[in-house]
Amino acid sequence: MKHLFKLLNFSLLFLSLVFTSNIKAQVFEIPRTGFVDENFKKIEKFESIYNSLFLKFGEYVPRMIKVIKYKSDSSFFQPYGNIPSVYISEKLFTNIESKLIKYTVFHETMHIVNFMISKRSDNKHGVSVYNQFRFLDEGFAEVLSNEFVENSNFGIEELKQASLQGKVDLAQVQNWWNKPPYEGAPGSFNIDMPSYYFNYFSYPAGVSFVLYLRTLGNDARIVDFFKSIGSSEDLTSSLKEVYDLTYDEAEKNWLDFIKTM
Ligand SMILES: [Zn+2]
Repeated sequence: MKHLFKLLNFSLLFLSLVFTSNIKAQVFEIPRTGFVDENFKKIEKFESIYNSLFLKFGEYVPRMIKVIKYKSDSSFFQPYGNIPSVYISEKLFTNIESKLIKYTVFHETMHIVNFMISKRSDNKHGVSVYNQFRFLDEGFAEVLSNEFVENSNFGIEELKQASLQGKVDLAQVQNWWNKPPYEGAPGSFNIDMPSYYFNYFSYPAGVSFVLYLRTLGNDARIVDFFKSIGSSEDLTSSLKEVYDLTYDEAEKNWLDFIKTM
């Protein structure tokens, strides 16, 4: 978290320098390099991950993404600034060819891509990091990163059981701070301190919602949905705009879909 703030401060400083000078943005344009290490050396082993993301998401994929070895069991991402970063658990680097590190790099990078797609109209933040949209963020990241490493087990059995008991609904999965089975403090979101440690239920819930969206259209349509959410910051109006569904219709159809998974 300390690193994140350091980087955030640095990128804010950098951004303010860019915006207060008259130098055109192109001067700062970084060549499309892909993943680099802490010394800005290209990581060839991750090129297939980058190419796969670029093929699908084009300009939404940052030109350069720093991969930082993180001294923890968990991995996370930092989407701000000119060179966003993924922090990948150090222990995964013992086998750089493993499916697990590829899945993790892909997954964390997807969060950055989702952030870029769902940029607010003021361009400041992507709304994918907001409390209420985290299930979509995790869902899209999980679906695509698992497909990349050819893993089709999304771990949705628990979700299915909970939904059969009537415990799953769209309001609750939008509350990232809630703990399964949806108990805990009421949600609150602070952009300065987003938390990615709560509501693991949002992963399978998000996966099921994204797979449900795929029954309505392709992934380009899901990209449109993230874009729409960025400008509306509202699930209900974006469901209507992109899928012509009311909130209640989407919820009912999604819950029915989970039962068929
Ligand atoms: Zn994630």
